[in-house]
Amino acid sequence: MREIRLIGDPVLRTPAEPVTDFDRELRRLVTEMMEVMYAANGVGLAGPQIGVPRRLFVYDVNGRKGHVINPVLTVDDPAEMLDEEGCLSVPGRDTGRPLYAATPRAAGVSVTGLDRLGRPISVKARGYLARCFQHETDHLDGVLYLDHLPKQTRRQLLLQTP
Ligand code: ZN
Repeated sequence: MREIRLIGDPVLRTPAEPVTDFDRELRRLVTEMMEVMYAANGVGLAGPQIGVPRRLFVYDVNGRKGHVINPVLTVDDPAEMLDEEGCLSVPGRDTGRPLYAATPRAAGVSVTGLDRLGRPISVKARGYLARCFQHETDHLDGVLYLDHLPKQTRRQLLLQTP
């Protein structure tokens, strides 16, 4: 199984390229990403997190699950929501588990994109699923949830990473 890349790995800070080939390899990659996400008890995983610099992510938030290729995020409700958020790529040095912090996100978003067969998909989300979509599309632009935190909080979290 592919390893999850951790903070400090340049692939996490590199904007990902669009997926162009909807082939067998892509279908296998999506399956593999779901497996890696579940094995790590995550609710989302983006390509760069397993070292694949391509624009796709998988998710499973309380049973609302799927994958989105070449996602485009639209904010439907910009009201700022604060909730605990962590990342499989930002674990605590001692625990190996994600470090959580109250992170501001928009309350409602829509994601459009393609599925692994190249068919268009569109998902509307609020609450934690909306948070997940924002977190995962951020990954495709080389952005981490830490970047949305106050400098002081970010610095404290970084002290606990490997
Ligand atoms: Zn993440």
